[in-house]
Amino acid sequence: MSLGLEETRALEERYLMHTYRRGPVDFVRGEGVLLWDAEGKEYLDFLAGISVCSVGHCHPAVVAVVTEQSARLMHVSNLFYTEPMARLAQRLSESSLGGRVFFANSGTEANECAIKVARKHAHERGITAPEIVSFEGEFHGRSYGALAATPGLAKNEALGPMLPGFRSVPRNDAAALRAAVGENTAAVLIEPIQGEAGVYPTSEEALLAAREACDQSGALLIFDEIQTGMGRTGSLWAYQQTPVRPDVMTAAKALGGGVPIGACITAPVAADVLQPGDHGSTFAAGPVATAAALAVLDIVDDPGLLRRVRELGAELREGLEALDRVRETRGRGLMIGIGLEEGIDAAALGADLLCRGLVVNVPAPGTVRLLPPLVVDSDQIAKAVGLIGDSLAAVA
Ligand code: PLP
Repeated sequence: MSLGLEETRALEERYLMHTYRRGPVDFVRGEGVLLWDAEGKEYLDFLAGISVCSVGHCHPAVVAVVTEQSARLMHVSNLFYTEPMARLAQRLSESSLGGRVFFANSGTEANECAIKVARKHAHERGITAPEIVSFEGEFHGRSYGALAATPGLAKNEALGPMLPGFRSVPRNDAAALRAAVGENTAAVLIEPIQGEAGVYPTSEEALLAAREACDQSGALLIFDEIQTGMGRTGSLWAYQQTPVRPDVMTAAKALGGGVPIGACITAPVAADVLQPGDHGSTFAAGPVATAAALAVLDIVDDPGLLRRVRELGAELREGLEALDRVRETRGRGLMIGIGLEEGIDAAALGADLLCRGLVVNVPAPGTVRLLPPLVVDSDQIAKAVGLIGDSLAAVA
């Protein structure tokens, strides 16, 4: 018997730090695109744990490998070899930039590794005060390195002092980016599509400017693919649908199908920067998480599934754009931001949708974000569009 929402909420209120405003639901079970709460109410999940459960909740293949691996060997530390870790590194490298991989336990930590690679690479080029340049609106995580690279949150003086050596330029301002990259630049760190900001694709012009500026200065181009990677945009990695290839890339979220794991993946140019003693982690690359990630890659690294993601994304956007009070949709594949007409309270819409049984997210005023599992079907998309239309009519 579960405690139920009210008792769980009372425990949270008393014992957890108040860092989150949670929706008033106590989820107890998930299967594919569906979730159930403690009262047995069913929900259509168009958030997928913020793009983590991309293969759907409790995918049988992931459950099977996690069950088998955790019954056999859960953890030995990084002081020894384990096969799933090595196989996953090979698979990630060969499917992307071709260099070496460092495993972490989260997106934030994957970015910490990328920042270390960038700074050490810069020191090797004789730069004593390396700088990392990003676009405003980006989100790279909440540890101090990743936070310093997250311009909106780095302004929080109550958490200061921030790590030095980070600067930002306005989103998609190619000229400002070119001007900001100079002899002290270690890296340009960008999201190919800004997710937490409300799903804003970085323009091709800005991406090309970043690549060019890095090539001219010797800085590394780092893509944070923590939200955009693992098939979310209709290709295994979002950069594959752009004219630009980064030197370093970070992945997490959907990589483990619900099991925490992150990865910093390099091209050969940055593959040997970190050496023994430079970085490490007790938990990272454990056999359960890496076996889970291999099972997830078996599912999503499939041209048929990726084509379907692009088709379903187009279908979803077409349905949304036909609704009254939708100003625009943004994004790629099944990473979609809905820009609402002026005056519509997106938070109220999100709360109303949850009551109607549709899980979405409101990352910014006037914006709803949809990140459904990639295994969603057309009927579920039509149902979600219908619920959003009903809710818009009720809330407006
Ligand atoms: N980078 C991006 C683009 C993200 O969307 C997130 C999380 O939302 C992170 C980094 C941080 O990842 P994590 O929450 O796993 O530390």
